[in-house]
Amino acid sequence: MGKRTSENVLLNIALKNFYGAAEELGLEDSLVEILGNSERKLSVSVPVVMDDGTTKVFNGYRIQHSTAIGPAKGGTRFHPDVNLDECEALGMLMTWKCSLAGIPYGGGKGGVECDPLQMSKGEKERLSRTYAARIEPLIGTWIDAPGPDVNTGGQEMIWFMDTISKIRGKVEPALFTGKPVGLWGSEGRVEATGLGVATCALEFLKAIKKDPKGTTFVIQGFGNVGTHAALTLVNAGATVVGISDITGAYYCPKGIDIKKAQQHASAHPKKLLEGFEQPGLEKIPAEELLLLEADILIPAALEGVVNKDNADKVKVKYIVEAANGPITPDADAILDAKGVLIVPDFLANSGGVIGSYFEWAQNLGGFFWTREEYNSRLLHIMKGNFKRVWDFSQERHVKMRRAAFMAAIARVAEAARLRGIFL
Ligand code: NAD
Repeated sequence: MGKRTSENVLLNIALKNFYGAAEELGLEDSLVEILGNSERKLSVSVPVVMDDGTTKVFNGYRIQHSTAIGPAKGGTRFHPDVNLDECEALGMLMTWKCSLAGIPYGGGKGGVECDPLQMSKGEKERLSRTYAARIEPLIGTWIDAPGPDVNTGGQEMIWFMDTISKIRGKVEPALFTGKPVGLWGSEGRVEATGLGVATCALEFLKAIKKDPKGTTFVIQGFGNVGTHAALTLVNAGATVVGISDITGAYYCPKGIDIKKAQQHASAHPKKLLEGFEQPGLEKIPAEELLLLEADILIPAALEGVVNKDNADKVKVKYIVEAANGPITPDADAILDAKGVLIVPDFLANSGGVIGSYFEWAQNLGGFFWTREEYNSRLLHIMKGNFKRVWDFSQERHVKMRRAAFMAAIARVAEAARLRGIFL
C-alpha cells in the first residue's frame, strides 16, 4: 500500500505529521503501514423525516483508526463539511491524543454532514437517533465509545444513549460520554477541554517564565472550548483582547469582560456573541482576529484557519491550538521560520478526552466523583503531559508538535508490537 496522501486538507496534514514523526522515530515499515490506515471506516445513510413532511437522507460516518491501546474514542460532529476523510484525519489525531494523554483508549471519530443550525429540535433528535441506530452494530463500551464534538453536546449524547439502550434492552451509560450531569454525566466535563487548554497555556507561560498577568490572548471561537479557556485564563490574571464566533470578531485592547460575554452568549437563542457590547469594544472583520497584536493566539473554532495565506501576517509570539488542526503544515513552516512557538492541538485540547475517560470510568464503576476530584485529577494529568512534551522537545531540540507526535506514536507502536498484527 505504501505511504498515503489525500486531497482532503486535514487528512493530508494528519498523514504528513504521522509519517514525519514515524521516520524520526525509526518506526518499522509494517507499523508505518498499519498506523497510516484506519482499522474500520463506516459510512451510513441517515434518513430523517423533516418537519415539513419530506424525507431527507444525510451522510453519516464513524471511523475507528486504532484500537491497539484500547477501545476507540472520539467525538461526533454535526456540520455541513463533515466527510469520511475528515473523520479519518480526526480519528487518527484521537489515537495520538489518547496515547499522549496516557489513557487506555485508541482513536475514533464520527459525524453527520448536516447543518444543525437550520434544523428544529425534533429534526435533530430524529437525525441523532437514526445515526446512532445505524452505527450501533460497530460501537460498544469496550469497542468504540463516541462523545460530542462541534454542534453536538449533552442532548445528542442522551438521544444516542437512549436509542442504543432501547435497541440492546439494557442501559448503556459508558458507551457515550459528554452526557449531562444527573444523567450519568460528570461534574466538570463541560469545562474540561477549555480548562485543559488554559492549563497548557499557563504551564507554557511558566516554562518560558512569563507571568499570566500582563499576558494578552486572542481566542477564535467562543463555543464550549473557547469560552471555558477564556474564563480560566482571565481568572489566572491574563487579559483576553479578542474573541470571535460565526457572527464576527470583537476586539478591546484593554481586555474583554469574558464573564459578561459568556452571559450574553448563554442568553442568545443560538448561543452567539451577536449584539455583544462593552465600553471600548470594537467589531472587526472576522479574518482580522487572527492577525491581532497579542502574546498568545488560541484558535478554538475549526481546522485550517491559519494557512499559507495569512500565516506571515500573524503577529503573536505563541499559539496554543484548541481546535483540531487549526494550522496547516505550510503555515506551520512559515510560523516556525518567524519563531512562533506552538503548543499542539492533541496536547492542548486533550482535557476533553481525559474528561471523557473520567466519565467512562465513573459510569463503569457506578460511582460519581465530586467536581473537585475531577478537576484536580485533570489538572494533574494535563500538567504532567505538558511537562513530558516540553522536556522532550527541549532535550531533543524538536518542536513541541514533533515531540508530542513522537511520544504518542511510540506508545501506540509499542502496544501494537506487544499485541501483534493478527487482526
Ligand atoms: P462549539 O460548537 O461549542 O464552538 C465552536 C465555536 O466556533 C462557536 O462559537 C462558533 O460560532 C465558532 N466558529 C465556527 N466557525 C467559525 C469561524 N469561521 N470563525 C470564528 N468562529 C467560528 O465547539 P467546541 O466544542 O468549542 O469545539 C471547538 C474546537 O475544539 C473544534 O475544533 C473541536 O474539534 C475542538 N475540540 C473540542 C472538544 C470538546 O470537548 N468540545 C475537545 C477537543 C477538541
